[in-house]
Amino acid sequence: MLSVFDMFKIGIGPSSSHTVGPMVAARRFAGQLTTEGLAGRAGRIVVDLYGSLALTGKGHGTVEATLNGLEGRAPRTVDPAIIVPRARALMQPDATLMLDGRQPVPFDGRRDVVLHMHEFLPRHANGMRLSAFDDQGGLLAREVYYSVGGGFIVSDAEFGQAAATAADVPYPFASAAELMAHCQREGRTIADIVMANETSWRSEAEVRAGLFEIAAVMKDCIESGCRQEGDLPGGYGVKRRAPAIFRRMVSLQLAGRTDVMLWPMLYAIAVSEENANGGRIVTAPTNGAAGIIPSVLQYYRNFHPRAGDEGVVEFLLTAAAVGMLYKMNASISGAEVGCQGEVGVACSMASAAYCAVSGGNLAQVENAAEIAMEHHLGLTCDPVGGLVQIPCVERNGVAAEKAIKCAQLAILEDGQHKVSLDQVIETMYRTGMDMQNKYKETSLGGLALTVGVPAC
Ligand code: SF4
Repeated sequence: MLSVFDMFKIGIGPSSSHTVGPMVAARRFAGQLTTEGLAGRAGRIVVDLYGSLALTGKGHGTVEATLNGLEGRAPRTVDPAIIVPRARALMQPDATLMLDGRQPVPFDGRRDVVLHMHEFLPRHANGMRLSAFDDQGGLLAREVYYSVGGGFIVSDAEFGQAAATAADVPYPFASAAELMAHCQREGRTIADIVMANETSWRSEAEVRAGLFEIAAVMKDCIESGCRQEGDLPGGYGVKRRAPAIFRRMVSLQLAGRTDVMLWPMLYAIAVSEENANGGRIVTAPTNGAAGIIPSVLQYYRNFHPRAGDEGVVEFLLTAAAVGMLYKMNASISGAEVGCQGEVGVACSMASAAYCAVSGGNLAQVENAAEIAMEHHLGLTCDPVGGLVQIPCVERNGVAAEKAIKCAQLAILEDGQHKVSLDQVIETMYRTGMDMQNKYKETSLGGLALTVGVPAC
């Protein structure tokens, strides 16, 4: 079983699979060298990036994240402001990499970082290989990692093995049908079931504290995104729009002319711009789609008449349960199934959560999650210039509003529907498998081709 804290991870932008995952993998490799007593013998470290990590890694900060990870920095605690300057320093001639934060190793970025643009490793589109050599060029250690979406990484040996958390939980589920059967049998909500499972690993007080921390980071991110002016990085001159939209919304509100449904769009744009700028982000369930859940949660807190702390807990637990279903049965990686696996999944999670905190019953919550995904099926991933900006920022805004509308539609009806959540999850995965690679986070097709110069 996955945990709510697997689905929501505090980290950095702009990409969970291309920034957070590589940083985690590199940190793990460096830590392993220390643990095995090899770090002190290292005379050279080589980073090989493959497939989507090479094709869109430049725009996603993959090299920067990997180098910082090799120096022992972690996405949750690193100061986002130091990542790029430190990586730039390491890419200068005669640099010294502080392996695992403690062991100096000579580093030449032009020689030791290799982007394999036209080569994919066999198991996943996001592959990377890290190697350590001694002073004579002898291989000390080598590991292949795959960044499989949402900041999750697996080594070559771990690929395909059952995940994450070993503890037995009282309510294991591998499908929406199984999850709902627990709810019906126990007379409990989805959030109750997930909380019961979480308390197998940590106390309820710790779970709640963790959820409130996540909610606080999400809120800070919206506020920061509404303040920060200027252009997003990457050289395309994409302007940050949230501050100007915010000012316009406030003046419209003062004049009594605001459409309340524009607020979630603004919140999501604000978060997505923070993400594109490499800021502090909650992966929800990925970074590319990180604007949607904070936005809908903030909309609930600001506009729902019964909003409160219990609702925040219920919201995040319900959203996480839906995200786990996609992670276990399909994919949350744009490089594997296109944007339907990122923005589509986040929209589905947010819609179920908003339906639950709005008083929707079990069937209505499942229906909300299903509707929200059904109308993202086939959505491609085609980021212009390999940057998580166009179409990602606006796409988050549109999906946030859609999540609320899908929940409202589900509540207007009795929950009876033809397509089950399990069926739509299976359909999403099959659709992703049928999709050409150029539409799966390679920036070789779609908008990336017609609007911008491909990253490669
Ligand atoms: S298009 Fe969608 S999946 Fe692709 S990078 Fe943007 S948000 Fe992520």
